[in-house]
Amino acid sequence: MTSEQKSIESNASSVEDYGSELVDRLRRSHEPLREGGTAIYLAQRFGFCSGVQRAIQLTYAAREKFPESRIFLLGEIIHNPEVNARIEALGVTRLGKWKVESGKWKVGETAPSTREGTFNFQLSTFNFLTPEDVVVIPAFGVPQQVMAILEKIGCHVVDTTCGHVKRVWRRVRQNTAEGITSIIHGKSSHEETLATASQAHGGHYLVISDVSDCEEVCRYIREGGDGKKFLDHFHGAHSENFDPAQHLHRIGVANQTTMLRNETLEIQSRLRDAITQRDGGDKNFHALDTVCNATQERRMRCLRCSTTRSISSSSWEATTARTPRTLYK
Ligand code: SF4
Repeated sequence: MTSEQKSIESNASSVEDYGSELVDRLRRSHEPLREGGTAIYLAQRFGFCSGVQRAIQLTYAAREKFPESRIFLLGEIIHNPEVNARIEALGVTRLGKWKVESGKWKVGETAPSTREGTFNFQLSTFNFLTPEDVVVIPAFGVPQQVMAILEKIGCHVVDTTCGHVKRVWRRVRQNTAEGITSIIHGKSSHEETLATASQAHGGHYLVISDVSDCEEVCRYIREGGDGKKFLDHFHGAHSENFDPAQHLHRIGVANQTTMLRNETLEIQSRLRDAITQRDGGDKNFHALDTVCNATQERRMRCLRCSTTRSISSSSWEATTARTPRTLYK
C-alpha cells in the first residue's frame, strides 16, 4: 500500500449517513409495515457489506484529500443508483461500465448481456487522464491491465478493491503459477469477473455462469468432444488460445464473490466428480471456498423473505446494495 493510499485510508471515517427513516421504523416495530394492500418486510441482514462501505468511505476521503482535483471512478462503487448519484454529487465523475471487446469506456452504457471477455485495453483508452487526476478503483477491482496503464500515466490511484476479491485473485495467480486452469464461477461480463480473469495472465481461465455451463465442461472432461463447439459455447468467456483438450487437465475453481454459495459448491462437486471419473482420483482438481459471506447471508435472508412471504426475488445481483424497497410485494 502506498503512503498516499494509507493517508486516505486513515481519513476514511467521515462519510455521509446512508441511513433510512423507513428502515429505522421497521427496526423499531419488529413488525412488517402495512400500507393498503402492501406489506414491507425487513430482511434480517441487508445493507452495505464491509467492502462497499469501505469503498464509499475511501471515495469521500479522496474528495477531502484532493478538493480541487478531477476525480474519476472506474465503473460503479456499487450497483445502486441512489448511492451513485450521491457520489456524483461530490464531483466524482463516474465512467460507465467498459465494453471489454473494444477496450473503450462507454459512459452511461449498461454492461453487455452477452459473453465478452477479451482484454484489449490501450493506453489511448485513458488518454484523457493526467498525472494530477485521481482515479478510484471500485470494490470489485479492475483488470490488471488497467492498473498497469494507470500506473504508467502516474495519476493518483485510490484502490478500494475488497480484500475478499483480492483473495480470489491470489488464488487465480497461484493456479496460473502452478499450470492450473482457473474455472471461474461468475458472469463473464461482470466487472469483478473480468478483473479476476485478468489475474490468470500468462495462464488459462474459463468462466462458467451456472450449473448448465458446468455440465458442458464436465461432459468434455469425461468424454472429450468437439473443441470448436465447446469454444463456441463459451465464446468470450475463456483465455486466449484456450484448448479444452489440453487446458481442462488440471483445474482449480475460483468464483465471483457474489455468486450463491450453494451453486458454487454444486459446481465444485460436479467438476470434482468429472475429474475423478476421468482420472480415477481428484489430484487434478483444486478448490477454495472464496464466496463472500456478506453476499451469501444477505441473499439467503432475502430469499427466505421471498419464499415465506411470496415476495418477488427475481434480480438479486448485488443484493448488498439494495434498500428495503426491493422487498415490496
Ligand atoms: S467481496 Fe463481499 S465484502 Fe467485498 S465488496 Fe464484495 S460483497 Fe462486499
